[in-house]
Amino acid sequence: MSNYTELDLNFIGGNWTTGTSEEVIEVTDPYTQEKLLTIQAASKEDVYKAYESAKKHQVKWAKTGPYEKAEIIRKAIRIVEDRKEEFSDWLIKEAGSTIAKANLEIDLVIAQMRLAAELPFQMEGIINQSMIPGKKNYLLRKPVGVVGVIGPFNFPMNLAMRSVAPALATGNAVVLKPGHQTPVTGGTLLAKVFEEAGLPEGVLQVVHPKISEIGDYFYEHPVPQLISFTGSDTVGKQIGEVAGRLVKETILELSGNNAMVVLDDADMDKAVNGAVYGRFMHSGQICMAINRIIIDESRFEEFTEQFVAKVKELKVGDPRDEETIIGPLIEESAVEDLLEAVEEAKKDGAEILLERERDGNVLSPIVVKGTNDVATARDEMFGPVVTLIPAKDDEHALELANDTEQGLSTAVTSEDEKRAFAFAERMETGMVHINDQSVNDEPYIAFGGEKESGIGCFGREHSLNEFTTWKWISVQDE
Ligand code: NAD
Repeated sequence: MSNYTELDLNFIGGNWTTGTSEEVIEVTDPYTQEKLLTIQAASKEDVYKAYESAKKHQVKWAKTGPYEKAEIIRKAIRIVEDRKEEFSDWLIKEAGSTIAKANLEIDLVIAQMRLAAELPFQMEGIINQSMIPGKKNYLLRKPVGVVGVIGPFNFPMNLAMRSVAPALATGNAVVLKPGHQTPVTGGTLLAKVFEEAGLPEGVLQVVHPKISEIGDYFYEHPVPQLISFTGSDTVGKQIGEVAGRLVKETILELSGNNAMVVLDDADMDKAVNGAVYGRFMHSGQICMAINRIIIDESRFEEFTEQFVAKVKELKVGDPRDEETIIGPLIEESAVEDLLEAVEEAKKDGAEILLERERDGNVLSPIVVKGTNDVATARDEMFGPVVTLIPAKDDEHALELANDTEQGLSTAVTSEDEKRAFAFAERMETGMVHINDQSVNDEPYIAFGGEKESGIGCFGREHSLNEFTTWKWISVQDE
């Protein structure tokens, strides 16, 4: 199971097949830049077949009993637990994960699956009294049908599993398209695990098309009633537009431009340690990562001094080294985009407090002092670049934190919990963490953004609601 170079990586109707496109997808290790795989891409025809297969097998799967569904998911959990090391290795070589991040990701995958294993038992209906005499109302909770899942590269296995597991658990069939950089960890491994766990053939398919070839076809296709997309706001908005036109449901989990606010009574160690973790975990490639640190001006110098000193200590380089915190970015263009934004920020008047070096796809941390209007603060920096911004007081800090189109996750630090709570309630984000940093993910808790960070929410009853719908059947029996 560990050598995928020899395998056909599309999984359609229970068969591992080679894509029929003329195009290929090259997969490289972001750190060594060694070629890992060449995949013959899936064509439109392959995507069509995948959706047809999902449609054909969905009804029978929906009728499969909850014990059987849950047992398949539990078996899949045991497979992931047994293969933790092998899957971590893939996350390191394909996604450039550090060892700590890869282990965290597998733990999150397992947690997502544990949550999903409960869902088959929650497909309960409601019997309602009718306002009309002699009529009975039955409300049946049912799967949406076929779900198209599109995943990102950064936590490929976890973020694909976050949609795939609850979708399957609630009786849907799925077609999964992982990020082109991470086809194995974002797609193939999930299919292998569920295949081995006994998921009936045709219920889950994985395809690897080139978007440049198939365009909007994956989500324009008439079969999927729900598109669950995790990725950038640019692509998310495009999907939302098409889905709106075609009257399809969407779950859109998109970009953040997250702030951490340090109030004047903050515990400085807590604030600095939180900020370092929240910005540099997985080299800054996390949707919830801190992009801007807004600090009360009375503590700005103190924070900056301690923060820069701590950042300088971070080990940068080989993700296979246990001590490395900052490994490679996913690809060369990601490094270039960040460096370009830093140059633009300089032109906008920002001061660079820490600028180290680049080695291949590894970029050392860059600390910028500026305002909300410099390039590195205006947009999400998906990498190790952070902007420190002074604020006059709490109101000013709040105004700055909320002054963005995104609304995913934020953090606020203060020794006065009541004050911090009142502040958190006014932050325009789906998630706020007090005396902590912004990168938090507990699969049982509501996860979702406000404003342009998305539509929809994951978590226990939220995942159940997202992947199911209601049917009203009434009986007039008098
Ligand atoms: P991306 O939007 O470039 O790609 C995401 C997926 O969409 C990939 O599978 C990609 O191949 C596919 N894709 C790209 N263009 C497409 C198109 N035109 N039509 C259909 N699919 C298309 O995002 P990424 O670079 O993989 O991930 C980074 C972004 O994702 C960041 O902005 C990050 O904040 C966001 N993200 C959000 C969450 C969340 O839960 N809110 C989680 C992880 C990442």
